[in-house]
Amino acid sequence: MEFSTAIGGLKTAVDLVRGVAAADRALNEADLKLKLLGAVNEMVTAQMALVDARQAVDERDAEVERLKEALAIKGTVVLVNSAYYKVDETTGKGRGHGYCMRCYETEHRLRHLAYGRPMMSDPVFCPSCSTKYVYAGVYPLE
Ligand SMILES: [Zn+2]
Repeated sequence: MEFSTAIGGLKTAVDLVRGVAAADRALNEADLKLKLLGAVNEMVTAQMALVDARQAVDERDAEVERLKEALAIKGTVVLVNSAYYKVDETTGKGRGHGYCMRCYETEHRLRHLAYGRPMMSDPVFCPSCSTKYVYAGVYPLE
């Protein structure tokens, strides 16, 4: 959409300037200024549209990068109780410290949980999204 606006604005600006150059008679100063101002306005609109377009492309690139990372993670983690764990290649089972279930399932990002005291009823939380878990459901796996 932004690209269409920019292209349209630049085309109008080019047409205005070409019209000045191709005029049969010399334009008076007021007409000339009016046409040039029209061209400048179109170019400013095109410039703003290109800035918006660049931002949209940057956002799209970031999303593509995030999805690539999510695809790379997929299959390397397994859900055990209430947390995801890296799969140990030799045993094929989850191992190590848990990752936040919410962050993985909603954003496809692995965020380590923050463990406090290792008591089964103690709370554990995700430093990224603040979701709380009970230690018994997310304790580190040997
Ligand atoms: Zn989280």
